[in-house]
Amino acid sequence: RRHRGEPPDRPRGEPVKVDLHTHTRASDGTQSPTELVTAAVAAGVDVLGVTDHDTAEGWDEAARAADAAGLGLVRGMEVSTRLDGRGVHLLAYLPDPTYPPLVALLDKVLEGRSSRVPAVLARLREVDVELSEDDVARVSGDAAASGRPHIADALVVAGVVADRDEAFRRFLNPGMPGYVDRYAAPLRETIRVVAEAGGVSVIAHAWGRRRTRTPDEAAIAELADLGLVGLEVDHQDHDAGARDALRAIARNLDLVVTGSSDHHGTGKVGHDLACNTTAPEELERLLDAAARARAASGRPAPEPLGL
Ligand code: AMP
Ligand code: ZN
Ligand code: FE
Ligand code: FE
Repeated sequence: RRHRGEPPDRPRGEPVKVDLHTHTRASDGTQSPTELVTAAVAAGVDVLGVTDHDTAEGWDEAARAADAAGLGLVRGMEVSTRLDGRGVHLLAYLPDPTYPPLVALLDKVLEGRSSRVPAVLARLREVDVELSEDDVARVSGDAAASGRPHIADALVVAGVVADRDEAFRRFLNPGMPGYVDRYAAPLRETIRVVAEAGGVSVIAHAWGRRRTRTPDEAAIAELADLGLVGLEVDHQDHDAGARDALRAIARNLDLVVTGSSDHHGTGKVGHDLACNTTAPEELERLLDAAARARAASGRPAPEPLGL
């Protein structure tokens, strides 16, 4: 049996490439799970985390594709949560996606996503940008989680903007004419429910795109007491100073440090697969914590594949 974190058929001496945060068309990525797996193999990734927003919809296809490709797979999701009025993205790895309280929590978030679409379209209409829900549905396809990137894609198709980035800058970012807030699950409750579902929680891009370094160490310490297992430190939204400070906090609090691309296919520039990676020993700590959570929960939580 291979050592955890060591992928199949790895050339001797080459480091294991672990990318634990990516998106597919199940949410707002531009690739199917199969296309993502193919791209990950081409990028030299050995262990991939598939973490769509608020859904496990892409898991089965990703598992089939990863199995066929001999790629290690960690199934997860990126849950939209809120702490003290601020949005926090929580990566939940290997929870039982059928655990009823988790299903209920995600359903509420997904309902908030769906109901926001017509609200955004109404705001866009006020600035004479005409899009219909059908226009958005055409680009979002069968995504379980609809998001602003889909509205951005509809704006591209309509010829209003050139790409997603322009759509966010002109219309969809907070303060812009198409911005509408939406429901997010309470962070503390989400950490608890993920643990009950046999999974482990990691804060995504903890200080990403924020002017303030929040949550601060004291707040993260409290979350660690509630069961938070790790911090995503190496992420494109963190500069070197933020990474150093977050790494120090993780060390102080004995949290797992992850790094990842937050790849969205062609939907997000500067987020190529494996542009940031997780150290194999940190992956091993994460998977050990997940194995303990799974055992403690009594739930049929998924296990990592191909590791
Ligand atoms: P939502 O989930 O609907 O709140 O939209 C947030 C998503 O939009 C996140 O997954 C981001 O990765 C994505 N996003 C935010 N800003 C941009 C941008 N400038 N270009 C492309 N995607 C973006
Ligand atoms: Zn996204
Ligand atoms: Fe995120
Ligand atoms: Fe993400």
